[in-house]
Amino acid sequence: MAVQSKGSTESFIKVPEIKFAKLFINGKFVDSISSKTFETIDPRTEEVIARVAEGDKEDVDLAVKAARSAFDHGPWPRVPGCERGRIMLRFAELIEQNVEELAALDAGKLFGMGKAIDIPLAPKTLRYYAGAADKIHGKTLKMSSNLQGYTLRQPIGVVGLIIPWNYPTGILFSPALAAGCTMVVKPAEQTPLSALYYAHLDKLAGVPDGVINVITGYGPTAGAAISSHMDIDKVSFTGSTEVGRLVMQAAAKSNLKPVSLELGGKNPLIVFDDADIETAANLGEICVASSRIFVQEGIYDDFAKKLAEKTKNWVVGDPFDPSASQGPQVDKKQYDKILSYIDHGKRGGAILLRGGKAMGDKGYYIEPTIFGDLKDDMTIAKDENLGLVDEAIKRANATRYGLAAGIVTNDLNVANTVSRSIRAGVIWINCYIASDQDCPYGGYKMSGFGRDLGLEAIDQYLQVKAVVTPIYNSFW
Ligand code: NAD
Repeated sequence: MAVQSKGSTESFIKVPEIKFAKLFINGKFVDSISSKTFETIDPRTEEVIARVAEGDKEDVDLAVKAARSAFDHGPWPRVPGCERGRIMLRFAELIEQNVEELAALDAGKLFGMGKAIDIPLAPKTLRYYAGAADKIHGKTLKMSSNLQGYTLRQPIGVVGLIIPWNYPTGILFSPALAAGCTMVVKPAEQTPLSALYYAHLDKLAGVPDGVINVITGYGPTAGAAISSHMDIDKVSFTGSTEVGRLVMQAAAKSNLKPVSLELGGKNPLIVFDDADIETAANLGEICVASSRIFVQEGIYDDFAKKLAEKTKNWVVGDPFDPSASQGPQVDKKQYDKILSYIDHGKRGGAILLRGGKAMGDKGYYIEPTIFGDLKDDMTIAKDENLGLVDEAIKRANATRYGLAAGIVTNDLNVANTVSRSIRAGVIWINCYIASDQDCPYGGYKMSGFGRDLGLEAIDQYLQVKAVVTPIYNSFW
């Protein structure tokens, strides 16, 4: 099967001129100390888009120094929250003015989706947290009669943000900014360009030098230097479970810095047989990208037919082509990994309902692939005495992950029961991948801990300090 975009790949090439490809430290774009660079590759053509500065431990040290000084002596943690909020609002405006360019950098994801959903989430999140920046309060404490106490909620300090290729950078720094922290950001090596562009915009917006520093480079070098740094006060990591474990170990072995982890998931979608088949197939179409779908027997054949029909019209092609529904995989590693999963599924006896092969002779394209009749570890025989809802819960929970889950049913009681029992951080009822800036997002089990988004996310960037003083001769 050939890549199906209408027109040649060349006709859609729109990667903008790359303006920022150096490290961003203390408000300036600088070469790495070693002067080394690495290639960022266009996944459509396997050609080099740009050479980007390769940061390592020494560069992380410089960035931490800048962030430390901005935290210990600079205005950012000290100005009133409304002033941080004002600058964050300006930052949001600038991102909006540059949506097209940001969505076109780090190509691979559909350009239309980046422009309509991923990038706009950054200004939305910045505005949400800008509004929260002056509402960070402590409590007064009811202590014994001759003591008075209150709590202060203070920024945690210098934060390391380590980011994967499939998550929009822009939303991650907003709660840390609102809290008054300074930071060192390490974007994924596959997608270094948009983070540097954000750095340029943050400076234009008036964020003081040293508050946001960006070190591009590889995980085991630049990333590891952040997680093991003695002068970073907290690490927020989004990525794979395997690397999350390494980050936590490094944090424990260095200065015991707190860590929050947003890790992988294998999110189930459970379709009950009272579900509207059209809704179920639409949600199934969204879900097939990465997940498991459990379908109740009575609706299985209709659902499988409808889902196959819907995905038949999927166009795999150039992410800049507006008619494309799916672009290439981000890099060769991810491409090989997915092909090996497909091979595993075929050899394991799952029924291939659609796709299953690589596409085209150039670029990391793979056919949309759906398997049916997959086996999970739990045999149905073992569960034969369980009710249907219990079986669905048990099978949905039969994974070491717990990021999110979806339920499709018109039965409110089933929806309520299942949503309370699934061990995952987000439950979607009759929708899927629906989120917003005020909806906390994060995992149970090996999907990590801590929450992005929502007011809960700010807590991760704050310390609580108790202040106690005696009161003499008080009648109150
Ligand atoms: P990854 O774990 O390979 O890399 C993530 C980041 O960690 C990159 O910046 C990488 O350079 C860095 N890194 C690699 N080795 C490191 C080390 N030893 N020390 C410190 N940093 C290191 O993940 P990826 O392939 O970029 O991203 C895909 C993964 O991210 C998937 O598992 C996906 O499920 C997960 N993810 C989770 C969420 C969520 O909200 N839970 C969101 C997006 C992506």
